[in-house]
Amino acid sequence: NAPVISNFIRAIIDEDLASGKHSSIVTRFPPEPNGYLHIGHAKSICLNFGLAEDYQGKCNLRMDDTNPEKESDEYVQSIKDSVAWLGFQWDGEVRYASDYFQQLYDYAIELIKTGHAFVCDLNAEQMREYRGSLTEPGKNSPYRERSVAENLDLFTRMKNGEFADGSKTLRLKIDMSSGNVNLRDPVIYRIRRAHHHRTGDAWCIYPMYDYTHCISDAIEGITHSLCTLEFEDHRPLYDWVLDNISIGCHPRQYEFSRLELLYALTSKRKLNALVTEGKVSGWDDPRMPTIEGMRRRGYSPAGIRLFSQRIGVSRGENIIDLAILEGAVREMLENESPRVMAVLDPIKVTLTNFQDGVTASRSAPYHPHHPEFGEREVLIAREIYIERDDFAEVPPPKWQRLTVGGEVRLRYSYVIKCDEVIKDADGKVIELKCSIDHDTLGQNPVGRKVKGVIHWLAANHAIAAEVRLYDRLFNEPRPDAVRGEDGEYVDFMQFLNPDSLQTITGYVEPAVRDAAPETRYQFERIGYFVTDRLEHQPGSKIVFNRTVGLKDSWAK
Ligand code: ATP
Ligand code: MG
Ligand code: MG
Repeated sequence: NAPVISNFIRAIIDEDLASGKHSSIVTRFPPEPNGYLHIGHAKSICLNFGLAEDYQGKCNLRMDDTNPEKESDEYVQSIKDSVAWLGFQWDGEVRYASDYFQQLYDYAIELIKTGHAFVCDLNAEQMREYRGSLTEPGKNSPYRERSVAENLDLFTRMKNGEFADGSKTLRLKIDMSSGNVNLRDPVIYRIRRAHHHRTGDAWCIYPMYDYTHCISDAIEGITHSLCTLEFEDHRPLYDWVLDNISIGCHPRQYEFSRLELLYALTSKRKLNALVTEGKVSGWDDPRMPTIEGMRRRGYSPAGIRLFSQRIGVSRGENIIDLAILEGAVREMLENESPRVMAVLDPIKVTLTNFQDGVTASRSAPYHPHHPEFGEREVLIAREIYIERDDFAEVPPPKWQRLTVGGEVRLRYSYVIKCDEVIKDADGKVIELKCSIDHDTLGQNPVGRKVKGVIHWLAANHAIAAEVRLYDRLFNEPRPDAVRGEDGEYVDFMQFLNPDSLQTITGYVEPAVRDAAPETRYQFERIGYFVTDRLEHQPGSKIVFNRTVGLKDSWAK
């Protein structure tokens, strides 16, 4: 277990527990089910569930489902899967803001009765006019002084479906001249005839986010309500609502900075555009920074959790390079993945002094430092494949791989020497003729040093596999923050990396043929790969996704 790194939220919790303000903590992760979760959400999940774990408190999973048009059960399911896959367990059942629609309505009635809310007939455009701006105070709505009785009557009729969509709203009566625009009589209910994924057509009025969120938190007895910094200016409204209704709980909101990941997008809306415009195969495309995409790519939950821990939690800017994520993922995979050999770009090697028609084998460990992973038989025969770039006719200085007249060791097997190069009519190398030193199995050759070790496969036993080589989805570090000459944002689709997916046929050891989907391996000297969660069929259709290379190839 990695050491706990403190942050300002932990300091607040420590103080609240020490002072006796709380005897235990309750946090929540409150996604809107309008898309799949991404790496930014992973940060929030690790924070909220991680705190609950460390302080032996509880963390709720709450679907913030108050925008019926954009929400669906598919998204709810995927959110649950993602949280569970990351290794977290929510307290009790999944909660839904929509479960509180009746309570939210009842509190709205209370606010009307106490003179804190009114029904307003201004349309959206008029509302904007009245709201004022950052520099100018707003103006009171002409409907602001309606009597309590009239407001009660109108709001009930809004609920009963007597008015057209958008024709009326319920607003709080706070202060149209407040320096904080969020307090300028915010709308808390709107009329919207839309089918809700859970409540169906039971409601035609829906509560707004700011009103719903604080009350949902209070209903659930949340102690520390953690959200991203753009909600800092909403905090006075969060507090105002709870101060003005008869609810016995007042959670405190604390803000931290959003994660922004370079070479990726962290907005459901923008990720949705990639999906609907067919730029990726779906929300779970292995190039997507979604939790389901990263899962299919082969990232492990531990890798993502390590990343979240490393990036920390603060109120300062949190712009992180993709290489940091890949580094954390690689670091965890190192000890999680058995190692096998694969040849992605083969060149045939004939071992001229190896008996024809014979297959020999040798047991080799799946991991040099993890004997518990076990061993498998590595096969050798007269014809083998090596990686094309492990041979050079004219080697650069310090070359330790194969060249004419030079020697290398075949991993777990013999030292071989290249005696002859066979080329086709165009001068392309198509075969190497090599001889093995029979005395080098499991021991060093006598009288000379052979430093290079290369991976290889017995050709007639190698299994063909579809191998998907993934790269960054974008060429631009901040694809959604580039402005053109006119000062407007450039469409981020322009920065898609055309080479983000290359599909090749590679060869793998027979030992992986029956691997289940989502089995992770290190292909020695190449990188980390995973059998595709959806398309890999054990024993018949072998499909590997490249998770990440062994080194950061972008660091050059
Ligand atoms: P998006 O713009 O992608 O839809 P959101 O904030 O609207 O993001 P929600 O579903 O409302 O998405 O988010 C659920 C929780 O995850 C919120 O508490 C939110 O603050 C947090 N969250 C979302 N994006 C990030 C991010 N990039 N970094 C950290 N936390 C995030
Ligand atoms: Mg949101
Ligand atoms: Mg959003």
